[in-house]
Amino acid sequence: MSFSASAKAEACHAVPGKHCCALAECFGILLFCNHFSADCIKIITESREFAYIIPKLFKKAFDLTFDSFPSMESPGKLVFQIMQPDKIAHIMSAFGFSPQDTLALHINLPVVEEDCCKAAFLRGAFLAGGSVTDPAKAYHMELTTTHQSVARECNLIVHEVLGFSPKNAVRGGGQVLYLKNSEMISDFLTFLGAPVAAMGIMETRLEKELNNKVNRRCNCDDANLSKVVDAAQEQLAAIRVLKKQGILETLPAKLQQAAAAREENPEAALAELAAMMDPPITKPAMNHRLKKLVQLSREVTV
Ligand SMILES: [Zn+2]
Repeated sequence: MSFSASAKAEACHAVPGKHCCALAECFGILLFCNHFSADCIKIITESREFAYIIPKLFKKAFDLTFDSFPSMESPGKLVFQIMQPDKIAHIMSAFGFSPQDTLALHINLPVVEEDCCKAAFLRGAFLAGGSVTDPAKAYHMELTTTHQSVARECNLIVHEVLGFSPKNAVRGGGQVLYLKNSEMISDFLTFLGAPVAAMGIMETRLEKELNNKVNRRCNCDDANLSKVVDAAQEQLAAIRVLKKQGILETLPAKLQQAAAAREENPEAALAELAAMMDPPITKPAMNHRLKKLVQLSREVTV
């Protein structure tokens, strides 16, 4: 089952107990489904869980049945339809519309006044016209409606309850509301009743962050290590030059001591070499002595 399908299955767990919420959920379904007009209502879904609750929701909200509905055994897409004008008029009037209004359907705000109803409305919208991408691939959630003002009003509702607004796009004549932020998607899913899917998003994000951190640290360690090795190689080469030219033995005792320590400990870190000096010196002082050796060797070879 895809991530989207399991999020939908989770959101279908319960038919709302309250009539106000059943009505709001149906409203979300209708405004985001395939077709909602005075002549026809058509809801198409691949979700078996959603198909299972659609008739119950419509029974609870409007006390009516579909004119045509699929057998649950039929494979592929499941289609629910209402064609009888009196049924559609009854549904329209429940939302405060007359059948002639349907050219400019919008969200009738009193239907989604309570927070419980807003959650139900957004759940219906997600079930009928939404999808959420597997977070391992990308953070993306979207809702599509064919009604222009519905997209704008839905944005306002999301902003009111969650404090952020989805982005808008137009695709194939539909209005798309979408989210690309993992936290927002997670909040949205939690609000509409899919907390397990929401947690899946956040877990994937944590995993990704952890992996990135580990990778960054490895790269960083490698870089530091190779810098240390390069520096030691340069110092050893310098010491060889100074020896060959007979210069090393003429240098101050401090520098000779530093050179000897480096030669005997080609892989030692600065701090280790500093501790070997007699008397021990600081890391910057050790660095200074080794740099001096490198500098002297350059002056000789130029
Ligand atoms: Zn309610």
